[in-house]
Amino acid sequence: MGQRILIIEDNPQNRLLLKDVLEFHGYEIMEAEDGQAGVEMAKKNKPDLILMDLQMPVMDGLTAGKIIRGDADIKNIKMIAVTSFAMSGDKERIMEAGFDHYISKPIDTRTLPVLIEKVLGVRP
Ligand SMILES: [Mg+2]
Repeated sequence: MGQRILIIEDNPQNRLLLKDVLEFHGYEIMEAEDGQAGVEMAKKNKPDLILMDLQMPVMDGLTAGKIIRGDADIKNIKMIAVTSFAMSGDKERIMEAGFDHYISKPIDTRTLPVLIEKVLGVRP
């Protein structure tokens, strides 16, 4: 497959879990530990897809998502929000920020690769 995914997540254990699952499925993984570092890495490396935690220090995921969507150079990168507080209203805020989809924690390691293929357009 060889597509590249940027994981932006402040929790090292969550990052490791996501990295392991996605590498197993053939993706090349990059990592950043907060929204600001993530935006910089996205600009530098132009991944195919970003998995974005929402609750992070320095810069939260909604803010980082909006910055990416507002930057002509990287605005077309697919983005999936990873949320631990999927309550009503949050879905709208996530979609308004420009995310293509979202997935709730705890991450279902079978659902995530299927969702990623859908968002990348590999799977209908
Ligand atoms: Mg977090």
